[in-house]
Amino acid sequence: MEGILYNSERAEKVLQKAADRERITPEEALILYNEADFLSIQKVARDIREQVLSHKYASYTMFRVVNYTNYCNVECSFCSFMDEIGNGKGYVLTTQEIIDKMEYAKQEGADQMFLQGGVYPELPFDYYLEIISSVKNKFPNMHIRAFSPVEILSMEKITGMSLREVLRELKKAGLDSVPGAGAEILTERMRQIISPKKASVKEWVRAMETCHEEGLPGSANIVFGSEETREEVIEHLNVVRELQDRTHGFLSFIPWTFQPQTKKFVIRSVPTHEYLKVLGICRIFLDNIPHIETSVMVLGKGVGQIGLYSGADDISSVVIEENVLRSFGLKTEKEAIKFLTSAGFTPKRRDLVYNYDKYENLKEKELIFS
Ligand code: SF4
Repeated sequence: MEGILYNSERAEKVLQKAADRERITPEEALILYNEADFLSIQKVARDIREQVLSHKYASYTMFRVVNYTNYCNVECSFCSFMDEIGNGKGYVLTTQEIIDKMEYAKQEGADQMFLQGGVYPELPFDYYLEIISSVKNKFPNMHIRAFSPVEILSMEKITGMSLREVLRELKKAGLDSVPGAGAEILTERMRQIISPKKASVKEWVRAMETCHEEGLPGSANIVFGSEETREEVIEHLNVVRELQDRTHGFLSFIPWTFQPQTKKFVIRSVPTHEYLKVLGICRIFLDNIPHIETSVMVLGKGVGQIGLYSGADDISSVVIEENVLRSFGLKTEKEAIKFLTSAGFTPKRRDLVYNYDKYENLKEKELIFS
């Protein structure tokens, strides 16, 4: 991507419109991507972040990722995590193994769980209900975020129940929120290229919309840096914004980039200024999503720090375990607090639905200097 040092005349107009807090159109977002310089976008995005949140916190959370199975029949071309069903090499965690992992995570300070796995239709629906209810019984205060749209849609298929009924059962078992994962790039062309067996855009939207309607909020993301066009990046953001206008169920949005994992998949190395530009465009364009996260785990601490000055207000960490992606992550709460403090922000712990208050009593100074 060429560096742009000066804004075009029309990019200036769009930046002014955004600075005045008027909603910009997808066409105007594309003008920013193509014709505005990164620093101008960064300034507007940072100002909007301050107006929307009216505080100087940068937040973090403490969660453990548990991947309950790596058997999967979806075969996304970028995935190095899955094992083919029936090859005998993969795993399915037992309820006890999941509880043991959460016990360890709790000792490490985590009070949030992120449960996700491959799509394995041979697993009965009761398996999902049991793992959720067992974790909830053992750790009543643990927030459970689980199951991406493609997993939930598979449960709909194997049970023959409606999606709504599936979600109600999961919620009754203890599910608190859902990740808007598996979105990658929400255009049919890109889904055909990278994950033709995954939920279509329409199905992804149906799954998320039903989750939100059933009182299961969550996050959404974009993963870019493959063969997508800039138009498709904006199209993805527009799918999310339109859905959010209807449901208000997304509490945060996380842009990240594809990482090299398999030879079946073409990626390009996204220049840092382009990643940060897209991050800023997310803050400007997604005017109905309160929190924008920058992934320190995927993009590293340097990019993460500048991301907090480019519209983001959260670092998507601390992650106690991550099997799917390589990780540059922060491993402890102390590291997160040091990182955010040195970036010039007041660190604030949150849970997965952005409650900050229950952590008010944390001894931050003690954590920073001990
Ligand atoms: S990314 Fe998820 S859905 Fe795709 S192949 Fe890997 S485990 Fe399966």
